[in-house]
Amino acid sequence: MTNTPEARSDAPLTAPGEILHVGAADYPGLDEWRSLPLSQQPDWRGHEDFDSAYAELSAHPPLVFAGEVDKLKRRLAKVANGEAFLLQGGDCAETFDGVTADKISAKVKTILQMAVVLTYGASLPVVKMGRMAGQYAKPRSSDVETRDGVTLPTFRGEIVNGFDFTEESRVPDPKRMVKAYHKSAATLNLVRAFTEGGFADLRAVQQWNKGFMQNPAHARYERLAGEIDRAVRFMEACGADFEGLKRTEFYAAHEALLLDYERALTRIDSRTGKPYVTSGHFVWIGERTRELDGAHMDYLSRVQNPVGVKLGPTTTPETVLEIIEKLDPEREPGRLTFIVRMGAANVREKLPPLVRAVSDAGAKVVWVTDPMHGNTITADNGYKTRRFDDILDEVRGFFEVHRSLGTYPGGLHVEMTGDDVAECLGGSDVIDESAFDQRYESLVDPRLNHKQSLELAFLVAESLTT
Ligand code: PEP
Ligand code: MN
Repeated sequence: MTNTPEARSDAPLTAPGEILHVGAADYPGLDEWRSLPLSQQPDWRGHEDFDSAYAELSAHPPLVFAGEVDKLKRRLAKVANGEAFLLQGGDCAETFDGVTADKISAKVKTILQMAVVLTYGASLPVVKMGRMAGQYAKPRSSDVETRDGVTLPTFRGEIVNGFDFTEESRVPDPKRMVKAYHKSAATLNLVRAFTEGGFADLRAVQQWNKGFMQNPAHARYERLAGEIDRAVRFMEACGADFEGLKRTEFYAAHEALLLDYERALTRIDSRTGKPYVTSGHFVWIGERTRELDGAHMDYLSRVQNPVGVKLGPTTTPETVLEIIEKLDPEREPGRLTFIVRMGAANVREKLPPLVRAVSDAGAKVVWVTDPMHGNTITADNGYKTRRFDDILDEVRGFFEVHRSLGTYPGGLHVEMTGDDVAECLGGSDVIDESAFDQRYESLVDPRLNHKQSLELAFLVAESLTT
């Protein structure tokens, strides 16, 4: 191993004729967030293991590389231009135990299957991205949880504390950040192996989709599935290079909530001298932490990654323009994605003024629909759930708004899994509340299961082709 600047994760900047020994540790402005309002963090700064965990993470290699991040930004610039579609999917909250070959492959497979259907529907390339390899920190509506008269700190995701309702498990533990890093590395390693090693072969993905069609509940999608099949056979007959289609780009995304983790994994790119969050390719700011003068906004304004911001139903056009000013002052194509989560009942009314304001300001962003977070309800038996029909309705509303304004609906962001869980209600192969006791696995929000995810992709594709 050489000791060139490129080989070190926190390489100093060197340019001909000057020596600027600036690494991520003392890069100007990167610590500004520490003096700003910072919500949704655990109280662990004085913890005896905090400094060593932080130092360990700071010394670890990056999980993703600046060149990949830049490439993703170019892909997202295409989405902003209406020349590609973005699919983001994965758990609400990843779990350490969920890092198994079976679960990861099922999730990646499902995303690839959805992507094939959407590629056909949109007649455009689909940028594939998992809420994976870092989606471990959760914002919560309360700092504490009370059960049977016992009050404990709330569960903030496995990067912070444990889900079990015991004092021991709920105490925030900074060492969990290091574990989350290693779990993310293991996840990414497998994802890279799958997606670069032949797993993405279009013909194989099409075979998996045929498995979905064998369920009589999905008969209504036969026409579209048949068309895709014929298209694949047509490509084959024309001598298309399927070898080239065996690999695909697949990007990792998560909410940049836990700023200690993000800061410790920020590196200065030796090519450009600029800071990148290297915990994932794409990071977003959630609905609860998007205050304009808050720490999260400030931190992401200083890194080069493409970033997302969730927009809930209370968002005003003024706020949207201020977010653009803050995160994308140079109007760099692909830099900023708005992930709209208004709720099916709101999207048709609340989204148009935001889209209009952005267009009028001449800004170009990626517009994505998250039809999950505005449609959460509590089932009669107490489980947090969402109705498939509401999810679909919000997606439809999102497309309608863009169609009527002549703007581009750039993507879909869903909480999903490749497993046969029962967490969201409905779908053609109907899930009802009685299945929750047996097959509800999510620690936080309900996810579409494998079939519901594919069904959603078919329905979106259908509405794109008609
Ligand atoms: C999430 O994506 O899991 C989440 C918490 O979303 P939001 O910030 O939109 O509520
Ligand atoms: Mn969620």
